Amino acid sequence: MNDALMNTYKRLPATFARGEGSWLFDTDGKKYLDFTSGIAVNCLGHNHPTLVQAINRQAGRLLHTSNYFLSDVVPLFAQKLVEACAKGGMEKVFLANSGAEANEGACKIARKYSLLKYGAGRHTIVTLQGSFHGRTITTLSATGQEKFHKDFGPFTEGFVHIPGGDIKKLDATLDEKTVAGLWIEPVQGESGIVPQTADFVEAAAKLCRQRDILLMADEIQSGLGRTGTFLAIEQYMAEGKAVKADIVTLAKGISGGIPSGAVLAGEKACGVFAPGDHGSTFGGNPLAAAAGLVVLDTVDKSDFMAEIKRKGEKIMAGIRAWGHSGVKEVRGRGLMIGIDIEKEAWPVLEAGLGAGLLMLSGGTNTLRLLPPYTISDGEIEQGLEIMRGLL
Ligand SMILES: *Cc1c(COP(=O)(O)O)cnc(C)c1O
Repeated sequence: MNDALMNTYKRLPATFARGEGSWLFDTDGKKYLDFTSGIAVNCLGHNHPTLVQAINRQAGRLLHTSNYFLSDVVPLFAQKLVEACAKGGMEKVFLANSGAEANEGACKIARKYSLLKYGAGRHTIVTLQGSFHGRTITTLSATGQEKFHKDFGPFTEGFVHIPGGDIKKLDATLDEKTVAGLWIEPVQGESGIVPQTADFVEAAAKLCRQRDILLMADEIQSGLGRTGTFLAIEQYMAEGKAVKADIVTLAKGISGGIPSGAVLAGEKACGVFAPGDHGSTFGGNPLAAAAGLVVLDTVDKSDFMAEIKRKGEKIMAGIRAWGHSGVKEVRGRGLMIGIDIEKEAWPVLEAGLGAGLLMLSGGTNTLRLLPPYTISDGEIEQGLEIMRGLL
């Protein structure tokens, strides 16, 4: 059936036909509880009525204009997105279609900021081991995992990877003569849900500020409320104040399932792009903007973030309460949860599929859970019951 598709994904054997809330239905009508949200994309669950209505309405009004023109909905979305990221220090946004594309934009902004202020040669971007920044040649170059660094070279120059948590190494690497940016995922996603420590992020923010190196936060997986605050970086406090980034990237859940992405910048770097510097045919698409407005309005409701935190704690506490020898560690923030297990993760995903529970892996022995924000307590309990049986 899928012979026409290139062989790029190791897939689980299920073919889905439709979704409803936290549930997916395969072509035989079997239902599955979705603890993955399409890897943090379907953050409001499947077939969310307001989202579907907004997409339908926009599809009937205007799908696309090109960036020679504005549409009425795109500036509104941009404004709300910037407001939502204000606590993280953001002032302006460039709209893109995907995470990797947003991250390419982030690299361009950091390099141009440094070039304008300090001249050529100060272009290195420091990233962390275990990071994941995307699949384009440049974002692969930024990604600090060896397994991605084969077969596709030569890679883009000017990326250095250091271990997270190592403040000494960070201090030594952030050379103000050669480094333009430090790029972190406040909570690493792909490599198994690894939150950076508060000490490290605070030290990073301070060193970056002192040396005028841009602090870049890849919040493609951790943003949009996933961790219980709009941006995960808001949860880190330096000198009693929330850490502010200079550049933030978002994608995945930003339009609730429509392809979309964003690179935002704060005071320092939001003005470095001039007309002609950057662009994207589909970036700032009215359909993605209309969908994105629903996501922003939904997560903006009072108590919504507190509920994400509460549901995440409920899942983590539930797993810890098993006192189970098959579970080595449970960690996470909000509804972004990693579970180190004794077994290999992949066969557990396969068994989960059989039992009607969808999960992700994050490394060989780690399960990764990214349930929709709208999941109910009853669904959480059902999912935990299935997981307990599997482990
Ligand atoms: C998914 C992801 C990306 C890449 O996003 P794409 O939309 O797949 O290009 C980049 N960074 C992080 C942290 C991600 O989770």
